[in-house]
Amino acid sequence: MNGSPGVAINDAVPLPATDTDDATSPILRLDSVVKHFGGRRRKPPVRAVDGVSLTVGRGETVGLVGESGSGKSTLGRLALRLLEPTAGTVTFDGSDVSRLRRRELARLRRRMQLVFQDPLSSFSPRMTIEEILTEPMTVHGIGTPKTRVAKCRELLDLVGLPSHALERYPHQFSGGQAQRIGIARALTTDPDLIVCDEAVSALDVSVQAQILNLLREVQRELGLSYLFIAHDLNVVRYMSDRISVMYLGQVVESGPADTLMDSAMHPYSQALVGSVPSLDRRGELRTPLVGEVPSPTRPPTGCRFHTRCPRRFEPCDHVDPELLQIGRRSAACHLLTSEVGA
Ligand code: SF4
Repeated sequence: MNGSPGVAINDAVPLPATDTDDATSPILRLDSVVKHFGGRRRKPPVRAVDGVSLTVGRGETVGLVGESGSGKSTLGRLALRLLEPTAGTVTFDGSDVSRLRRRELARLRRRMQLVFQDPLSSFSPRMTIEEILTEPMTVHGIGTPKTRVAKCRELLDLVGLPSHALERYPHQFSGGQAQRIGIARALTTDPDLIVCDEAVSALDVSVQAQILNLLREVQRELGLSYLFIAHDLNVVRYMSDRISVMYLGQVVESGPADTLMDSAMHPYSQALVGSVPSLDRRGELRTPLVGEVPSPTRPPTGCRFHTRCPRRFEPCDHVDPELLQIGRRSAACHLLTSEVGA
């Protein structure tokens, strides 16, 4: 198909339930995860996440992209078990988190943290930075008051802030500095996995670059894994080893970041990539993404993208395309199936 140079279509195999990566021992594994909201009194539920499988390897960054309403932030919260899945399993470091008792879950929670778009909104304006940073350690019973403060100083140094920041209040910091504090707070419990949900979206471009580089440095130093959620594909490409593209609650394509950006297979991924300004692609003709994301309450039948897809054909509006694995990549589109069968 167009836009998929170098892909060995004949190697494609159906991929019903699991992701395509070759990580032998993922820190995070989602299997056929579903999250529906509401749906009582004859109202259909909001199908925010509908059968997503993916893994994040140790020390790996997996980027999750898609337009607003794709379900990527819900998926991030399901990964951290801040939300209960309607169906499917979430496995963290080999443990099915839905089966854990409260105490076991609390122990596990230390090891997974969230960095989100606007840390200032989550900080109490009346708490000092020292109180904000020591709070997670106190909640999880980590260290003594003295060692907690020592750890805060260490972490402030790691994220590039002076230790006298501890005595200040949130409003005394810029957006970039506040995000550094948000990262330091996420690190206080020595996590293995951090879900970054639009962590740089609210920042100026120059500050974005500083925070992205900080996240990469911290990852190198501490061996962290990231599930990196963002709508900006350039940012996701910069950060990620692999990328999964979500549309209306489903993953439609996954693959190594550079390969996916250079030769997206799914028409939706192609449209997203084509909408990203890039010097490499200057002058190329791309089909723009038109129309709005349909309602997740009544998603289209067949391929959910068919109402916006410029390449739709006979089966697309009534047959759900299978997720096919092609080497280290996967995509769900009838064009791939028809090429395999050709
Ligand atoms: Fe487009 Fe059909 Fe592929 Fe869906 S299955 S992305 S509608 S060509």
